[in-house]
Amino acid sequence: MAISPSIHYNDEDLASRWREFFEDTGMRGHAILLADRYPEERSLRIDFQHINAYDPDLASYLLENPAKAVKAAENVMHSLLPAERSQVRLHFRLQGLPLDARVEIRDLRSKHLGKMVCIEGLVRKATEVRPRLVDAVFRCARCDTELHVKQEGVLLKEPLECSRDGGGCGRTSGSTKFILLPEESSYEDTQKVEVQESPEGLRGGAQPERLEGFLIDDITGRISPGDRVILNGILTGNQRSGPQGKSTLFNIMLQVSSVEYREHEYDEIKITPEDIEKIRDEASKEDIVKEIAHSISPTIYGFDIEKEAFALQLFSGVSKVMQDGTKIRGDIHILLVGDPGLAKSQLLSYMSQLAPRGIYTSGKSSSAAGLTAAAVKDEFGEGRWTLEAGALVLADKGIACVDELDKMSDNDRSAMHQIMESQIITVAKAGITATLQARCSILGAANPIYGRFQNEQMLGAQIDMPPALLSRFDLIFILQDKPNSSRDRSIASHILKAHRVGERRKLEKTPEGVEESTVAEESRLVEPVFDREFLRKYISYAKRINPILTDDAIAIIMEEYLRIRKLGEEPGASMPITARQLEAYVRLSEASARGRLNELVERQDAERAIRIVGHYLQKLAREGDVLDIDRIGGDMSHNQRSHIATVLDIIRNVPDEFGGAAIGDIVEKAKKMKIDEVEARKIVEKLARTGEIYEQKAGVYKIANK
Ligand code: ADP
Ligand code: MG
Repeated sequence: MAISPSIHYNDEDLASRWREFFEDTGMRGHAILLADRYPEERSLRIDFQHINAYDPDLASYLLENPAKAVKAAENVMHSLLPAERSQVRLHFRLQGLPLDARVEIRDLRSKHLGKMVCIEGLVRKATEVRPRLVDAVFRCARCDTELHVKQEGVLLKEPLECSRDGGGCGRTSGSTKFILLPEESSYEDTQKVEVQESPEGLRGGAQPERLEGFLIDDITGRISPGDRVILNGILTGNQRSGPQGKSTLFNIMLQVSSVEYREHEYDEIKITPEDIEKIRDEASKEDIVKEIAHSISPTIYGFDIEKEAFALQLFSGVSKVMQDGTKIRGDIHILLVGDPGLAKSQLLSYMSQLAPRGIYTSGKSSSAAGLTAAAVKDEFGEGRWTLEAGALVLADKGIACVDELDKMSDNDRSAMHQIMESQIITVAKAGITATLQARCSILGAANPIYGRFQNEQMLGAQIDMPPALLSRFDLIFILQDKPNSSRDRSIASHILKAHRVGERRKLEKTPEGVEESTVAEESRLVEPVFDREFLRKYISYAKRINPILTDDAIAIIMEEYLRIRKLGEEPGASMPITARQLEAYVRLSEASARGRLNELVERQDAERAIRIVGHYLQKLAREGDVLDIDRIGGDMSHNQRSHIATVLDIIRNVPDEFGGAAIGDIVEKAKKMKIDEVEARKIVEKLARTGEIYEQKAGVYKIANK
């Protein structure tokens, strides 16, 4: 629809056009019905299309001169109501704006001021709902006359004189005082929100821009931070004022006319019938999940299992609501722990761009809301409390890639448990109590405390995160940078080739001295199997499928779970895995079935899950041959703990007259207790370092507190 700016109406024309519209389209009857239910109903919502179909000129005029047109529409609407409804005040709220009224926040310019625009975004902040004076009643202190002053804007407007027309004494504000009568005055509810551009609309790395919106009356109090909304409204300028007085610079804000909600994440990605055909076609091919894994960050060499797990994370398991109302998350949480320089950040950033609704953030985010959410009292709220959404709330129904997760704030640390399990966050502070949704998968990365990961130490002791939090990850991958000449060669060659491909892309043709065919081959090496756009379509299509476990899959998972549990039955052994891992198997298998666009979770899906969980458990929990889940959370495994106790006992039991335990004797005795020499020496060293024993003289140890 082309907007012709030439349309002009005088007040009468405008009123008569609206009158015709209301009468001819049945909207008058609609308004009367609403008026009967006033004040429960306070808005007439009208689709733009409705107006456009009846009177395209009026519709364009409305977009160009919204303040005037809406006011006229409201006046006409009220005049058409039956006389006994004269007190009714309905809002005329416009929704369903056409595409050409849609503007990205970053594209808002001065030409949009005063126009009707449609902004799509993510709600970041919302203040409490608070009343605002609209009709202030004052009493003249000299003659007691009551005066009404309509209020607009933020500053209170007082009467200038006690007007004689209104039956007053005629004194000006210099010779009388005007006293505000709060009980006589009337108010409306107001709320301020801040929306930011949706992450999927952003070009890589760009910071999302933000816009303030102002809501009044019946549409207040419904928006929560984290909501995806379309705000229709009038863009207005807000003069800045500084210490030197009023400025010629303006801030912009949106006077919101109506709010539309985005329900489903997959609404955002348009999939055509041709796309579906291609998706189905690819899905039928040999091991599609692996192909998708190969499309994740192809310039990063290796990490095959990790990338396969990332692919499953993109699909996620099935979220369930049981008959008793219990919710079970389907989202898969993955943690990468590892030495610096192993491409963790690269992988995270790639995933955040690939995943629909993905975001990339750091644990030590600078905003008050951090990763979770916060209630703050800042300039934005103008004295009101504001609820601000953190990264995980903004990533609702997406993947939150959180780098340096171990560096999160204490506030986040305590809120993370709730987020990772029940996927909500409750904020209760001052006037604000709210529950925000954070149904996102977390892909976290953390560096070991000591810089590098040490095999012999427990994970819990090496990463600054509470065990209970660690146990909520479905998968924890340890990445280690151990020199290994054949692997090093492959990585180096991959990185170097990738660089050459990147260089070649800047040139028109391959210069002499380098083989064109070699570079072409190298280019295939770092090319994703599927491009990002297709993958996003594939993912959002696959997520509509809710696969169900087959008997086969149940039996396989059960068997594996029991097999590992059984390892824990041996005397002295500790708990191998817990029911949490069982859920991880289920989620991963479901995701695998989704990835294949299959409605059944079958043997191959269960096997994939077992292979991936097995990979992580082996790396993490392997100690001798016993899987020991205590290694994940605690800072010592059951075995180590009992070995340390044994060594301590040995030292303690040496009679005093010996003057301490000689290292040779300790090693001998430890051997009899099935602790090998290397370990025994290590334990002694560690105990001496931590001060539990001390070296009485060279090679002779005593218990410190004896
Ligand atoms: P981290 O976050 O783990 O400290 P980065 O993501 O910053 O590491 O990666 C460091 C650099 O090393 C990146 O430029 C990355 O491309 C490169 N790199 C590391 N490992 C690999 C690999 N396996 N394949 C390709 N490049 C790699
Ligand atoms: Mg990093």
